[in-house]
Amino acid sequence: MGTDASTVNAGADANTAAVARYRNDFLKEVEDRVEEGHWVKMCMQCGVCAGSCPFGPHWEHSPQKIFMMIRAGKREEVLTSDSMFMCTSCYNCMVRCPRKLPITHIMHGLANYAHRLGLAPKNQPTREFATMFWHNLARTGRINELKLTLAVYFKDGFVSGIKTAMTMQGIGLGLLKAKRLNPMEIVGGHKLKDLKGFHAIIAKASEIEDRKKGFSRG
Ligand code: SF4
Ligand code: SF4
Repeated sequence: MGTDASTVNAGADANTAAVARYRNDFLKEVEDRVEEGHWVKMCMQCGVCAGSCPFGPHWEHSPQKIFMMIRAGKREEVLTSDSMFMCTSCYNCMVRCPRKLPITHIMHGLANYAHRLGLAPKNQPTREFATMFWHNLARTGRINELKLTLAVYFKDGFVSGIKTAMTMQGIGLGLLKAKRLNPMEIVGGHKLKDLKGFHAIIAKASEIEDRKKGFSRG
């Protein structure tokens, strides 16, 4: 894992390289680099997914519209959209799609790709939480709930963190009483025994994923 600045630079470099390589062929880029992206061309624009999505009225682009935009080459509009981040993985669309597209996975794949290129909306809450969750988990192989909670509360600064903590104090105390929150987690917390092995697995998986999705520098 790099620093935030190096991650941003790597994303910008990867984006420039992808634009040059897939000029005018966004569908091919999605097919090559987005999880299950090769399914997009199978969409027949029936609208069943758009009508089935419980989030339908609340997001800018339904899956049906996103797939149409990909085929129309609307790269920037798709990759800067926050619609993919709104998917709650309810799988309603997937079980109903007459063409059996793995819609949920494509939506998450697009969100991940946009994030890695540095094009995803910066303050999108799902993206922010997923990033914090991943960093928390990857450090020790176990989620440190106390540190994750504090990271979420204080993400917008000290004052707003204190305000959020005060608002949520009832829940925090309830968790403490029920022994679901351990204050000692702040000084370390539980971790995997073979941390070195775990980090080696993550590094290898990242290397394979980077190569597959065009983020490799090699
Ligand atoms: S339900 Fe399937 S075929 Fe119909 S618009 Fe959605 S993705 Fe396309
Ligand atoms: S899985 Fe996502 S895109 Fe599909 S219906 Fe549910 S929320 Fe909508």
